[in-house]
Amino acid sequence: MSPSDPVSQEKQASTGSKNHKKKDQPPAEIVINIAWCKGCGICVDFCKPQAIEMQGPVVSIVSVDKCTRCRMCEAMCPDFAIEIDPPVPMEEMAQKARESRR
Ligand code: SF4
Ligand code: SF4
Repeated sequence: MSPSDPVSQEKQASTGSKNHKKKDQPPAEIVINIAWCKGCGICVDFCKPQAIEMQGPVVSIVSVDKCTRCRMCEAMCPDFAIEIDPPVPMEEMAQKARESRR
């Protein structure tokens, strides 16, 4: 797809397939709806592993392998322009929270 292709300008998605930290986890998918992204950078500010970055006026995926699927970007985006699939199972999130308190 070329940059002039309207479809490629609307959505950007990337799915991790290798080097993912846990073998039993499905790879993260970061889906960015570029048409809705206003380029505020809030999601980037909240992404600790720096899996996403600003590229000009819109957010862009750096590496899905860095994504921990914390979904902070999704929660903080005021325009619902970024989405993470699949979500982290609740038990895994609870385990992470327990580990972070130690
Ligand atoms: S928070 Fe939402 S609108 Fe702002 S840069 Fe990120 S995806 Fe775009
Ligand atoms: S889910 Fe978390 S680690 Fe992945 S891109 Fe969003 S903020 Fe970054």
